[in-house]
Amino acid sequence: MVLSSLLTRFSEPETLKMARLGRELRTQGFDIVDLSLGEPDFDTPQHIKDAAKKAIDENWSHYTPVSGYLDLREAICQKFQRDNNLSYSPENIVVSTGAKQSLANAILSIIDEGDEVIIPTPFWVTYAALVELARGKVKLLHSTLETEYKITPAQLESAITAKTKMFIFSSPCNPSGAVYKLEELQLLAEVFSKNPHIIIISDEIYEYINYKGGHESIAQFDELKERTIVINGLSKGFAMTGWRLGYLAAPLQIAKACEKLQGQFTSGTNAVTQRAAITALTSPLDASFQMVKEFSWRKQRVMEWMQKLKHFQSTEPDGAFYAFPRVDYYFGKKDGFEMIKNADDLAMYLLNKGHVSTVTGSAFGDPACLRISFANNMEKIEEGFKRIELALSKLE
Ligand code: PMP
Repeated sequence: MVLSSLLTRFSEPETLKMARLGRELRTQGFDIVDLSLGEPDFDTPQHIKDAAKKAIDENWSHYTPVSGYLDLREAICQKFQRDNNLSYSPENIVVSTGAKQSLANAILSIIDEGDEVIIPTPFWVTYAALVELARGKVKLLHSTLETEYKITPAQLESAITAKTKMFIFSSPCNPSGAVYKLEELQLLAEVFSKNPHIIIISDEIYEYINYKGGHESIAQFDELKERTIVINGLSKGFAMTGWRLGYLAAPLQIAKACEKLQGQFTSGTNAVTQRAAITALTSPLDASFQMVKEFSWRKQRVMEWMQKLKHFQSTEPDGAFYAFPRVDYYFGKKDGFEMIKNADDLAMYLLNKGHVSTVTGSAFGDPACLRISFANNMEKIEEGFKRIELALSKLE
């Protein structure tokens, strides 16, 4: 059978691959500590679950409007006003089956063959895959440990060409945990102001998982708002990954294009999830902040481990729930049998010999690093790092 060439333009996400390999080892009877997780290990807050149960009983069981219920889109507008001081109308909002679909809608609505898309590294795997699906050209902009995994305005300026159509980034960043401060966004905004042909996708799905300062959106600059698409959703901030609800806020023309595309792919997202989402977005955020407090304690412990593993060089994440250490000290070392050539090998070595799963940095465009998630309980984190330490001590 000959399958479509579309499938050759992207591969299985490395994050999902590690989860799959971990599961396979577990079914063979191995006890694997999972530090590869990309989702909160908490349960969805009770008041949101209650809203969903009520929605089922009230028969919210029919097809939904493609862009989402009007009262949900109004709740999303209120959320933007409350949290980000951004003013949108419901027509600017499109609700989707996860932020991943919001990103797909936005990228496929805008990118044509040959359009250049600038993506700073490290970046979330799916951005590049979606651009390639749309036959766009990914232009990676490398940020480093020295600049705390943030790009500089000069770097941005030098990467822009007449063909640059889009810039995609996340703040807080998955995987580095970097969070752009207001002044830093201001400097990038000045570069974008000089380049009105660029549309910005600002992925703010980790907005609430912020350990320092507050969240700042690049959409707050008036001259950029008309060409910025803000992506957000319930997965991370409300521990609702399986509920599948994401949304975007965009200028009207783009929102309409996304709605048209989604109308042929999936239609409106799940009715019960949408009703529950209204409760999530309009209720106090205590449960989310409690979760962030717990992540913050874990982060402190993970940073102590980073100090202890002295050949792991890491910045302290200001947001999200990952550490992203440089691990290239170990490249070229052996455990007596295999040589670790790169971060892929190190992740596989830690999984197969140390029984702890992490994700190779090459999945995020930085092959010198490893992503270690702390979306697992303290006991597992402790055990995971002990195993990493032991496995690393065998490499010479
Ligand atoms: N953006 C980033 C940066 C993410 O890490 C994720 C989830 N891993 C998503 C978007 C997608 O989120 P959702 O579950 O809402 O599709």
